[in-house]
Amino acid sequence: MGKQITPFAAERLLKTASRGFKVASPGSLRDRQTSSRVIFMSSLSFVASVLAVALVVACSDSTGPTVLAVKSGDKQTALAGTPVPAPIVISGTGGQNATFTVLAGGGTLSSTTGTVNADGTVTAPTWTLGKSAVPQQLEVTIGSRKIVITANVQTSYKIDLRFFGRTMTAAQQALFTNAANRIRAIVVGQLPVVTISASDSAATACGVTGVPEPTGSVDGILIYASIDSIDGRNKILAQSGPCFVRVQNTQLDFRTSIGVMKFDSADINSLAGSGNLQEVITHEMLHVVGFGSFWAFPGGDSAGKVLLINPGADVRYTGQGGIAGCQAIGGVSTCATSVPVEGSQGGDGTINSHWRETTFNNELMTGFLNSGVNPLSKMTIKSLEDLGYTVDASAADPFTIPGGSVRASFRADDITATTTPGAWEKPLPRAPRGLPTTGIPQSSGSK
Ligand SMILES: [Zn+2]
Repeated sequence: MGKQITPFAAERLLKTASRGFKVASPGSLRDRQTSSRVIFMSSLSFVASVLAVALVVACSDSTGPTVLAVKSGDKQTALAGTPVPAPIVISGTGGQNATFTVLAGGGTLSSTTGTVNADGTVTAPTWTLGKSAVPQQLEVTIGSRKIVITANVQTSYKIDLRFFGRTMTAAQQALFTNAANRIRAIVVGQLPVVTISASDSAATACGVTGVPEPTGSVDGILIYASIDSIDGRNKILAQSGPCFVRVQNTQLDFRTSIGVMKFDSADINSLAGSGNLQEVITHEMLHVVGFGSFWAFPGGDSAGKVLLINPGADVRYTGQGGIAGCQAIGGVSTCATSVPVEGSQGGDGTINSHWRETTFNNELMTGFLNSGVNPLSKMTIKSLEDLGYTVDASAADPFTIPGGSVRASFRADDITATTTPGAWEKPLPRAPRGLPTTGIPQSSGSK
């Protein structure tokens, strides 16, 4: 789940960063030891010792006390959930080991201390980056001396998030930004450019009001998001999906160019109260990106085949990425040839577009929210490959298919006390339209 840097943390980073460049205060343990050793060796006479002390002070003045510095390995880039590739080496340690702490980005360390090398430098433990495309920071500490190392999460996927409707609080906006950062760590490949002109009236076509019609290039996804009234309390909570996809050489490319996600303000507080609002927003944003939105899209053959599922009583997902992802989370037999899809519980917005609740329980992209955490698994990430995305499965949350007794779960409509069981979520009213692509962007920056 996305990590937000709180004002407090940001302030701390600022302070730490400035500390990193500061000269360490004199009188640290090592400084004192050095001084006393020199004094002892020079104690043949009072004059000599005075001279020696003067010499040490002079040396201190000319070279300054030891300052930590990053000898190599700063500002690396790696995929979310993977270690930075090159060793991080700290100099100025005076041969002492250092303490390492992840300061921002949600990454993990193989140890809290490094390895002291023969030349007195310290090599950091393995630093595995977090699972969101947010700044990654690692703090190194020896005594009162600190320095901060940074790294970037590698992604070329761009999400242009635009809010509409009622003004959201900063905290509400942050939930959408967090979801976007999480998804940018999962979808990492660059997308072909779509050029929108005012005559496309794209916002109007997407049912988005009160904003200027978008124009210009979209080389990722443009998402309109709102928390506003839909149908009043306890009915539809969220309505989301793609409203424009790409068209390449007259063929549909199911990577969304423009999408919409709307939440009913009448239901949002009860959901926030349950603590699951962030997960629901990430869930809906994945639908906008394309998860479940095209599974039943007509495939165009005479047999009425649809894209990624075999509809029917035992509806199953047939995309190779999703199958591989399911097998990777323990579903070697469950998903030997296909993945169980929700076919019976929930309304039209749930059936045929989510993993099956009775099989996958609290996975984020089942049709129902569970109490506690709802992990975003490798299966969900890998299924996005079937839509044409390049993904990073290392950004997945830990998840294995529940075996034996399935834990008790409750449905999203229980949280919101929806009066129509299951019908808590629905797609956009119109099928997505196509906008032609005009090539691959020139730059391939990671931001
Ligand atoms: Zn859903």
